[in-house]
Amino acid sequence: MRKISDWGNYPIIEAEVSGFDTTDQLREKISNSGSMIAFGNGRSYGDASLQSTILLTRRFNKFLSFDDTSGTLTCQSGVMLSEILDVFVPRGWFLPVTPGTKLITLGGAIAADVHGKNHHVSGSFGQHILSMDVMRTDGSIITCSPEENTDFFKITVGGMGLTGIILKATFRLKKIETAYIREETLRAANLSEIMDSFETSGDWSYSVAWIDCLAKGDALGRSIMMRGEHASASELVNASHKHEPLNLKPGLQLSVPFAFPNFALNKLTMKAFNWAYYNKCRPGTHRSIVDYNAFFYPLDAIAHWNRIYGKRGFTQYQFVIPKAAGREGMQKILKRITESGLGSFLAVLKLFGEQEGFMSFPMAGYTLALDFPISLKAMDLFKELDAMVADYGGRLYLAKDSRMDAEMFNKTYPNVADFRQAITLLNEGNTKFESLQSKRIGITG
Ligand SMILES: Cc1cc2nc3c(=O)[nH]c(=O)nc-3n(C[C@H](O)[C@H](O)[C@H](O)COP(=O)(O)OP(=O)(O)OC[C@H]3O[C@@H](n4cnc5c(N)ncnc54)[C@H](O)[C@@H]3O)c2cc1C
Repeated sequence: MRKISDWGNYPIIEAEVSGFDTTDQLREKISNSGSMIAFGNGRSYGDASLQSTILLTRRFNKFLSFDDTSGTLTCQSGVMLSEILDVFVPRGWFLPVTPGTKLITLGGAIAADVHGKNHHVSGSFGQHILSMDVMRTDGSIITCSPEENTDFFKITVGGMGLTGIILKATFRLKKIETAYIREETLRAANLSEIMDSFETSGDWSYSVAWIDCLAKGDALGRSIMMRGEHASASELVNASHKHEPLNLKPGLQLSVPFAFPNFALNKLTMKAFNWAYYNKCRPGTHRSIVDYNAFFYPLDAIAHWNRIYGKRGFTQYQFVIPKAAGREGMQKILKRITESGLGSFLAVLKLFGEQEGFMSFPMAGYTLALDFPISLKAMDLFKELDAMVADYGGRLYLAKDSRMDAEMFNKTYPNVADFRQAITLLNEGNTKFESLQSKRIGITG
């Protein structure tokens, strides 16, 4: 038994934890244990990959094949996105979709159907999967794709590990000329301005905004938008970039050495940080060429940054509301959050495009994600926010969740009943794959 948690360090549990190197070993584990859940790299925030028996997938991490003409890559599910980038960026290929951290596994990317800054043009990660193999409850392996075993495919993408263990997947990388991004940053004085910016930024491949969720009144929703495109070789200006356009020098890796005491993060420190960050960007539009790590993964440069929230841990409240309700809904929800004074510095706003996933989180609309240190007050606030999100026709992201109840889940994910029934059928009365989350929100157990 050992202590284990996902990224928010809440909850921390004791679990039997083991890995596997081959499909035979995995089959044996599945047949000899009770229920279990796959654990990729624990970058979901709550309890989606936690329960008393945990199966680590990281050792199952071989690259299996690559077609240099089409960019089609097949690898085992424990490969991390960072490993894919390390190998393929120097060859001129990039991920079709990437979340705000590259320290996640391929299995985790599919199971949560992750989204990135290009959701409005490229959809979610699952939409790029050409085929995958999954080991089921009885140890058999099913190959599924948008054309083969399609129902199983649909419930596995975004299925949070409940249909089986994803073994390997094939998907297509996209061609790039350089490892750099042509970035534009612009400041918005309030929520309405930033929403206008999103609505006129549809032609950009990547867009995202950082919101100061402590600013009030006329400044409610003041933000900085970052939008970008993969830079072509001719757009590079710096001589060293031009010399090796696809190779980055290793960046500085900082680390938070221990869990901060709880008093370190308070309203004043957070307000000061947010003020400084907002004012760092002068009014107007600024153009620059930045490397892909700085654009996509700024937080990955600080190892263990989750420790700044101290031992009590934190959670991320990420919701999406449909675009039609976006302006009014976001204004009201954000106002309630700022009034509470409980939000912290990382608030990220994004406009999603259309999405057809069965259990996937995104829908055409605005999504806001922000971190909260765990506290009773925050838990009370989430209840209020849940009601508002549900009333506006929105929902919460399972990959970030550690506290949603079954009622909220049932109300807000339209395919819950069919998903629950499918999981029950797959289990044939003997639940094999379940997490603390799946029990809490009433899909299993
Ligand atoms: C700093 C940061 C930024 C992030 N930004 C984004 C973002 O922009 N967009 C976004 O969508 N997400 C984002 N996330 C969330 C993260 O991308 C997802 O939670 C992702 O699922 C984590 O993958 P993991 O490999 O760490 O898996 P885990 O967190 O360990 O597991 C996540 C889920 O996948 C299942 N799973 C893992 N491997 C397998 C497998 N082989 N077979 C079956 N099921 C499996 C688990 O059972 C669990 O349900 C962010 C997280 C962090 C920490």
